[in-house]
Amino acid sequence: MNIHEYQGKEILSSFGVRIQRGTVAKNAKEAVDAAKALTEQTGTGWHVIKAQVHAGGRGKGGGVKLAKNLKEVEEIAGEIIGMNLVTPQTSAEGKKVHQVLVAEDVYYPGDSEPEEYYMSVLLNRATGRNMIMYSTEGGMDIETVAEETPDLIFTEEIDPSTGLLGFQARRIAFNLGLSGKAFKEMTKFVMSLYEAFEKSDSSLFEINPVLKTSDDKIMAVDAKVTLDDNALFRHKDYAEMRDVREENATEVEAREVGLNYVDLDGNVGCMVNGAGLAMATMDLIKQAGGEPANFLDVGGTADAKRVEEAFRLILKDDKVEAILVNIFGGIVRCDRVAQGIVDASKNMGDAMNVPIIVRLQGTNADIAKELIDNSGLKVYSAVQFQEAADKVQEVLS
Ligand code: GDP
Ligand code: MN
Repeated sequence: MNIHEYQGKEILSSFGVRIQRGTVAKNAKEAVDAAKALTEQTGTGWHVIKAQVHAGGRGKGGGVKLAKNLKEVEEIAGEIIGMNLVTPQTSAEGKKVHQVLVAEDVYYPGDSEPEEYYMSVLLNRATGRNMIMYSTEGGMDIETVAEETPDLIFTEEIDPSTGLLGFQARRIAFNLGLSGKAFKEMTKFVMSLYEAFEKSDSSLFEINPVLKTSDDKIMAVDAKVTLDDNALFRHKDYAEMRDVREENATEVEAREVGLNYVDLDGNVGCMVNGAGLAMATMDLIKQAGGEPANFLDVGGTADAKRVEEAFRLILKDDKVEAILVNIFGGIVRCDRVAQGIVDASKNMGDAMNVPIIVRLQGTNADIAKELIDNSGLKVYSAVQFQEAADKVQEVLS
């Protein structure tokens, strides 16, 4: 589950990670009140107004702006709230901004220039261990750094039996070229950041930039935090951070009825049981020259009601031109699934307006095929996996 920058910072801060402080605001007046309160607390006269949407690159899209007085706070907040923010990470329509983070300006002048670093914590899937990835090249796209100057990206892998060790945090501070107070601050930052990552059951932290202020404080200016959905039962307070306005409406609906659905860009809707078979089905559609419109795992109980719910979800997507049902009848009998498909098609009537290719294998597959073939519906049955994919191509061309 993704959360907003301000929520990510709340989590970091609760584990002692220093953050750029701020308050979230839903309108220009709240923004001004937040700025006043921040000035009292931090002494800052300048504020940054930051659009809160689930997408990076907000600065580039005009969603992060500096306000030098309260009048500018009001103007900028008024301008950003309600706008459709387009960034390199959103679609062309952009994302509607419902709230901004009013934050203290932390790029103030001082003894030295502020410096921006990049730091993320994530799982290295190749080794099965967490790692901290970091770079002196903060503030910019890490993909660009990886492409142009890969030697400026460092990693530190963590042994799960010892956790992050002090020398590793010191090595990070050293590789970032720090010394003195900034060095100590960085080791403390890294240790608390990793503790936060583990204890919050996160699957990704991306802090870009981590800032060294002109007076050598180290802090998180940005925070992209992805929480592990499967651990949310342990963190009721984090679960409440979900903002469904930021999520795909069909995916939200699917979650509510207990279906595993991920929206994709193609034109072939997929209804499959089991995540592995769903992945294989998507591969086969691609190999046959099509593009999957979604990933959908209906799970073990593919009865008529569930099948109908799944069809309705898939058909919400206007791009869908055909649906491939690929179900293995292991626990669930194929004839029951087939009956479910026939009933669902009849119930849905005109709403079911695209050809359906059905492949049912396993217990009672032959009875299932008969049911489909004799239903009088515009449903094509297939026996082999390849045959199903070929049929999809046939109906599309
Ligand atoms: P992103 O564009 O979505 O990654 O949003 P960030 O939170 O990373 O902010 C974008 C950029 O805004 C940063 O890289 C900074 O250059 C700038 N910025 C953020 N906070 C401040 C601040 O307190 N003062 C100034 N002057 N610039 C800031
Ligand atoms: Mn950023």
